Amino acid sequence: MAAKYGLGIDYGGTKLLAAVVDLNDGKVVASAKKKTSAADGPDEVMARIFDAADSALDKAKVKPSQLAGIGVGIAGQVDSDRGILRGTPNLSQAVVDLPIAKGLLDRYGVPTALRNDVQIAAVGEQQFGAGRGVNDFLCVFVGTGVGGALVQDGVLQHGAAGSAGEIGHVVVDAGGRLCGCGGHGHLEAYASRTAITASILGDLKRGRPSIVRELVPELDPGAPGAGGTAIRSGVLAKGIEAGDAVVTETVHEAGYYLGLGLASAINLINPQRIVLGGGVIEAVDAFFQIAATHARREALPTPAATVEIVKAGLGDYSGVVGAALIGANGA
Ligand SMILES: [Zn+2]
Repeated sequence: MAAKYGLGIDYGGTKLLAAVVDLNDGKVVASAKKKTSAADGPDEVMARIFDAADSALDKAKVKPSQLAGIGVGIAGQVDSDRGILRGTPNLSQAVVDLPIAKGLLDRYGVPTALRNDVQIAAVGEQQFGAGRGVNDFLCVFVGTGVGGALVQDGVLQHGAAGSAGEIGHVVVDAGGRLCGCGGHGHLEAYASRTAITASILGDLKRGRPSIVRELVPELDPGAPGAGGTAIRSGVLAKGIEAGDAVVTETVHEAGYYLGLGLASAINLINPQRIVLGGGVIEAVDAFFQIAATHARREALPTPAATVEIVKAGLGDYSGVVGAALIGANGA
């Protein structure tokens, strides 16, 4: 039998997770988590990846030579054929055309692969999570952005330029809010944690009372550049639980827009299943429920009646498990 282990790396906007994965059952043998910073340049990005990878291998007591491959997923524009990160809004603008796959190959001497963060998560869910047994599904992950990946006839779709499944940039409000990509009214500008944070900060600035002030005392809504990812998913969950009006209204609005985006996707591709994951979905059940309700309400009756809308099965590990599989298969 081929090597049993793969190493998966999920490079996100605020953290980096590396894990040694048993490729036979998708179980994480050991993992290591490191913080990432938006100020990171190319050298810092590679250093953080190596650091997390070494640490996961150490903990798992697995040598690089025992790996079938290493896969990396990162939010951004990825040239998967060449293993190059072309650029990403989450890191310094100096990160351009970074050959991540080659850097890993040179250091560890095993096959490597690079994909975007949602594509790796979709593969993890397909093999060992909530996408098992289904040929046509859409994965949508809500975090600092809203990412999507589409599997049809059992195959992850890339599209003509590699951006198939990018539901975060579907228009849900014509001429609406400015999106990070430069477009207007895109789903990501309404339903991401970044968007939710911006909306709550706006309410705080206007003086509305909210439990968020107590839960995140260091938050200064008036400070220049305040916002971003300052309000964690756990804070949103606590705000809902406490019946906080600001948090509840904001999360309901974000869930409504997510539902609109999903409804369009349901109409367009008629998936058997939609797998929703990411920090906000995991932590805030109301957000998931509202999105699912509006998705069914706004979609055509026929595809709405058959689509299953479920939460991701692997939690935080969808990405690293999928990355390990992709690295091992070189696919
Ligand atoms: Zn956009």
